Amino acid sequence: MRNTDEVWSLVEAKRERFFELSDRVWGMPELNYAEERSSAEHAAMLETEGFRIERGLAGLPTAVMGEAGEGGPVIAILGEFDALPGLSQAAGVAERREVEAGGNGHACGHNLLGSGALLAATAVKDWLAANGLPGRVRYYGCPAEEGGSAKGFMVRAGCFDDVDVAISWHPGPFAGVNTPISLACNEMDFHFSGRSSHAAASPHLGRSALDAVELMNVGVNYMREHMPSSARIHYALLDAGGTAPNVVQGRAVVRYLVRARDLPQLQALVKRVQKVAEGAALMTETAVECRIVSGDANLVGNTPLEELMHSHLERLGPPPFDDADRTFAAQFQATLSDEDIAASFQRFGMKPRKGLALVDAIYPLGAGDGSSVGSTDVGTVSWVVPTVQMRGATVAIGTPGHSWQLVAQGKAPAAHKGMEHAAKAMASTAAELLRDPVLVEKAKADFRERLVGTPFVNPIPDDVDPPLPGTH
Ligand SMILES: [Zn+2]
Repeated sequence: MRNTDEVWSLVEAKRERFFELSDRVWGMPELNYAEERSSAEHAAMLETEGFRIERGLAGLPTAVMGEAGEGGPVIAILGEFDALPGLSQAAGVAERREVEAGGNGHACGHNLLGSGALLAATAVKDWLAANGLPGRVRYYGCPAEEGGSAKGFMVRAGCFDDVDVAISWHPGPFAGVNTPISLACNEMDFHFSGRSSHAAASPHLGRSALDAVELMNVGVNYMREHMPSSARIHYALLDAGGTAPNVVQGRAVVRYLVRARDLPQLQALVKRVQKVAEGAALMTETAVECRIVSGDANLVGNTPLEELMHSHLERLGPPPFDDADRTFAAQFQATLSDEDIAASFQRFGMKPRKGLALVDAIYPLGAGDGSSVGSTDVGTVSWVVPTVQMRGATVAIGTPGHSWQLVAQGKAPAAHKGMEHAAKAMASTAAELLRDPVLVEKAKADFRERLVGTPFVNPIPDDVDPPLPGTH
């Protein structure tokens, strides 16, 4: 990793404190919208660094934003800090070992994501001040990425309206510019209500909401054959109406997660699923109400920003992993199947390389065909602001997302190196945008061109409230 940029030295100057921040957040894994301590840690760091702070953005108590600089373009660096349930895991050991039985864990690396983004924003702030340049940098501490769609609520509230460019990253096994493919999605609950009755004495008087749920599931399963192959539909029973089979279930709730290639396809598919639900209600003489819980738009790419960020990654080279890091990572690879490891390479369009525990190169621009993707709420931001995202290499190749192996590697020296590496790439990309407003204009022109004729419809309707703790 060459170190030629002034802003890279500014990242190095403060990295230790941000490694510590990441490690502290790793040690307090908090879920969707309940990230009180993690958000407070980020706010405290913003305060120490002299950012102007705004809390509770979009009515989300754990959302926090810090801004520095004056005038000029506004560059936003997006961070996250939420964890996942059931993935408590001791650090540094290559075997499943819970710290707290049934506890949470940072199985998506958001401890690094938030801290690395805040480190990048801090370096850009220091760089602006050192050079006396106009321009503003913001760090957005965004809660609830794991199914909470917080950024969608923040978009709806206008939090990004005056932002010129948004930059983010995600930890994982590889380093390079994110190929901007993700699925638009909506999560929604179907509440069926029928009429309860004695299942033996008066079955003819009952109208089963559980029957309606079963028929809806059958209907959607038949629909699968006739939807775009990139679309995905998953469901889970939230309420089967009770445990007594001798009572006709008067109520039942099924949650659906519908995913599609882009927002227009999503809107069409959601309508079809809703029709199946209505059909099930009609067949069973029950009533159904569809309540949207959350939603993410697909990622919109931005060629000028992707090329710019890639050039910075190329200059930077891969993270400076050493033999100790590789030996450590190899222990985790040994817990994975050959298929896991091969799939990890294939996701990025690369031929599997046996014996490679940590990356030794930046992957090419546009690598991977996006055939294996989920959804992210960064997608919704990318519909309102030109956005670029990179992947930072922080774990052994093959480490699956949302796994105990990912939690266990979250505080290791390799994770810190990958986080610093991502912070440098984001910071120098931001610095170049601030130094050269023509680049910002190019990014905006590409953004406008991609979305011409496709009006943005936030997948979170106006009447949906964020699923804050205590509101369910
Ligand atoms: Zn994640």
